[in-house]
Amino acid sequence: MTKFISSNLGYPRIGEKREWKNALEAYWSKSITEETLLERTTALRLENLKKQQELGIDLIPVGDFSFYDHVLDTAVMFGAIPERFQTNHNATDLDTYFAIARGEKNAVAAEMTKWFNTNYHYIVPELNNVKPTLVQNRVLHYYNEAKEELGIEAKPVLLGPVTFIKLSKGYSEAQLNDLIDAFTPLYIQVLQELSAAGAAWIQIDEPILGTNLSEKELELVKDTYKKLKEAVPKSKIILQTYFETVQNYKEVIQLPVDAIGLDFIHGDNLEQIKKYGFPKDKALAAGVINGRNVWRADLEKSLELVKKIEASVESETIIIQPSCSLLHVPVTTKSEANIDKVILDGLAFADEKIKEIYAITHASENGIEQVQAIFNKNKESLHALNTSTYRNNENVKQELETLDLENTYRSLSFSERIKKQRELLQLPLLPTTTIGSLPQTQEVKQTRRAWRQGDISNEEYTTFVQNETKKWIQIQEDLDLDVLVHGEFERTDMVEYFGEKLAGFNVTEYGWVQSYGSRCVKPPLIVGDVAFEKAITVEDITYAQSLTDKPVKGMLTGPITILNWSFVHDGLPRFTVLNQIALALEKEVLALEEAGINIIQVDEPALREGLPLDKQKWKTYLDAAVEAFRLATATVKPETQIHTHMCYSEFGEIYEAIDELDADVISIETSRSHGELISTFEENNYEKEIGLGVYDIHSPRVPSVEELKKNISRALETISIEKFWINPDCGLKTRQEPETIAALENMITAAKEVRKLA
Ligand code: GLN
Ligand code: ZN
Repeated sequence: MTKFISSNLGYPRIGEKREWKNALEAYWSKSITEETLLERTTALRLENLKKQQELGIDLIPVGDFSFYDHVLDTAVMFGAIPERFQTNHNATDLDTYFAIARGEKNAVAAEMTKWFNTNYHYIVPELNNVKPTLVQNRVLHYYNEAKEELGIEAKPVLLGPVTFIKLSKGYSEAQLNDLIDAFTPLYIQVLQELSAAGAAWIQIDEPILGTNLSEKELELVKDTYKKLKEAVPKSKIILQTYFETVQNYKEVIQLPVDAIGLDFIHGDNLEQIKKYGFPKDKALAAGVINGRNVWRADLEKSLELVKKIEASVESETIIIQPSCSLLHVPVTTKSEANIDKVILDGLAFADEKIKEIYAITHASENGIEQVQAIFNKNKESLHALNTSTYRNNENVKQELETLDLENTYRSLSFSERIKKQRELLQLPLLPTTTIGSLPQTQEVKQTRRAWRQGDISNEEYTTFVQNETKKWIQIQEDLDLDVLVHGEFERTDMVEYFGEKLAGFNVTEYGWVQSYGSRCVKPPLIVGDVAFEKAITVEDITYAQSLTDKPVKGMLTGPITILNWSFVHDGLPRFTVLNQIALALEKEVLALEEAGINIIQVDEPALREGLPLDKQKWKTYLDAAVEAFRLATATVKPETQIHTHMCYSEFGEIYEAIDELDADVISIETSRSHGELISTFEENNYEKEIGLGVYDIHSPRVPSVEELKKNISRALETISIEKFWINPDCGLKTRQEPETIAALENMITAAKEVRKLA
């Protein structure tokens, strides 16, 4: 008889109404003391634990709580403080921790980057010149707190040493061994203290096992886990993976730990256990509830999945859990008052997912009878949603069926169409432009809020936005920019804005998830079939265009970015939803063209982050992304110029896909990269036009004309002058007006001077 236990891998930190964010920001702005911050966050943490206890979870995680980010927590716990913060700071101070994350007067913040294939950002640890020591066993503190305050025998959660070091920087490949050797004893100490305090189960997260590790790295994993396990014979170690198929499955399941956690929602782990089995001496921690999505699970199917898993393994214990930490979903659906009941009943945020885990565990262990009511309700809700009009748009279905995805090409090749575009647009050499958004002042934000709350009318709001656009068209004309933008004053967020206007989307009131630090995002829900209803941006763009003789760019968010930054409907394959979005955007693109807009920019900043962890799956993803982009853009006339934009990322490996998007012009944020990026395009002899951000917009500093000329000249050493565009990096909406105008003025002066020399 298999024993079933319920577990959670991590609970959202932010609170039902973002209380966590509010407390942190109040502390940073000095309106509350550290003591109050600790009081409030402790209350929240205990409340979260209590909730999980009441919802019937057996293994409740502790150590998942953070004041900013769990990777930073791990670094600071081991004294891995970046060099520039070492002299004036005490490693145990909360303010040191925040300084690393947020920067301070004389020291820039540590780099932040995306956590695997999610939109959560972690702080990149810097391991050069650090002396690893155990500064504080924070997890032990949380373990004891749960026991003392609530009598909960919790399950401590740690970020594993291999993932931690692999995600860090400041060392060469040759030093990997030494670093693991330096950190392993500290991990052992943490584990031994937890074990001595009574921890029965300890979860160690190694999501890096979903990526393609080298032989040598795999040896390190084996060696490390042997040492860790030997150090705590009395506690059970769960080696936890998530987000995808675990690579090197056969080796991983032989690691000397007590349980292995696998994601059965994403990737092919079920096939692996069927093919290679799973050892009798280990418990299997089975992620059967999607921790990355917000939809209710089909409980009958989940139960079937558990049965399939049970039939394929010899383990005596199966732990039922979410596929990953619930950090990636909002807290509870209970506060949503304005969503259609059919949709609301189809949603499951963290708390509702925990109830699902409880129901599946209970049904697996004791039979379905006692939880029958939950199963019945589940079935009803899903039936109502799946048969609703949201999910049954016949037009969209038909349109998709007749799609010819192989044939999404522009009617002329780039070399032919660029001639027509140049003739039409009559732009100077080194045309100047910006990436889209312009400063969103307090006034812009306040007015939008007032409109949302119904304090001002639609007309008043529209007039306000138009006046802002008008002001900025004038400024851009005075600056003598060549290609203008309308400024995106009507948008808070580039995905939410389109989500509000396309059919098939819905937005929540409290559906926040942590993105980085206290910053939360509210991804729109893709509830059903996505469809174009009526033109979205045409009015704003044509209004801007009516004010000037210079070209104004149409400005859209691309299909893969909308997909990656939304909670996608789970009844359809992701790529089908992607094509639905692309089809809807194509209509918008054509409507803009029809309205006389000759340049249309389709932003794809999320292209790279959606890449699967396993490189072998990249091609399928990239092909789908490229097809969708072309589906949305390729039907325009040859003389219509398509632009795209991406934020900085390592482009070398996805260069081919970028080329295949076949955008006439690409702009890329470059502030953090420079040489390497340019050389990728140079080596490949990139044929199309390109704009590399010539200055960093992340600080209010105004770059001098000389500095800008230098940046431009440097790019022109490798990119031919006919192909080069001059633009700043993306994100001007976060800047103030005066510094933006001053910087653009210098940029344009620099462009003109370089032009003269050409
Ligand atoms: N057009 C968008 C803007 O300028 C692009 C945002 C981005 O790069 N993520 O705000
Ligand atoms: Zn960008």
